[in-house]
Amino acid sequence: MDLKNYIREVQDFPKEGIGFKDITTLLNNGEVFKKTIDMCVENVSEFDFDVIVGPEARGFIVAAPMSYALSKSFVPIRKPGKLPSETVSIEYELEYGVDKLEIHKDAIKKGQKVLIADDLLATGGTVNAIVKLIESMGAEVVGMVFIMELSFLNARDLIGDYNIKSLIKY
Ligand code: IMP
Repeated sequence: MDLKNYIREVQDFPKEGIGFKDITTLLNNGEVFKKTIDMCVENVSEFDFDVIVGPEARGFIVAAPMSYALSKSFVPIRKPGKLPSETVSIEYELEYGVDKLEIHKDAIKKGQKVLIADDLLATGGTVNAIVKLIESMGAEVVGMVFIMELSFLNARDLIGDYNIKSLIKY
């Protein structure tokens, strides 16, 4: 099954010049969605971890069913002001301006092993910030998994020496 066939590319979204990879067409096929999550699970079978974190919002779609399948904890990472209890946060640079992500302070304990899951790896800015956030809590990032990777943006150079898995490369 070639997952690429189920991903729609939308031109000029969210702004002109960008070809957005839209996974809603993949999610809309139950069998293909299940196969995608199964493949993510298979790809991380050699990693030893306690927790899967996923960033809002599409990261939830990958991380939560993986957590369910593997009986692992799921921890959400969210945009500012969304999490109800005490948080720790990290700011990171975007092409224009900065963005911020938050996690519950008590959600990950020192020494825990963490897997990061998201739909797409582009520049690596988002996942790089998540790595720093998790490590600042005293936990260890054992790997990360994505449905798609835009290889031409060379995120792996930015992220550095981590186990990075992706199902589809563009
Ligand atoms: P990065 O920080 O540049 O690696 O961008 C990755 C983040 O942006 C992920 O959380 C993605 O969900 C989102 N993203 C960027 N481009 C796309 C796209 O074409 N399709 C879906 N999500 C995208």
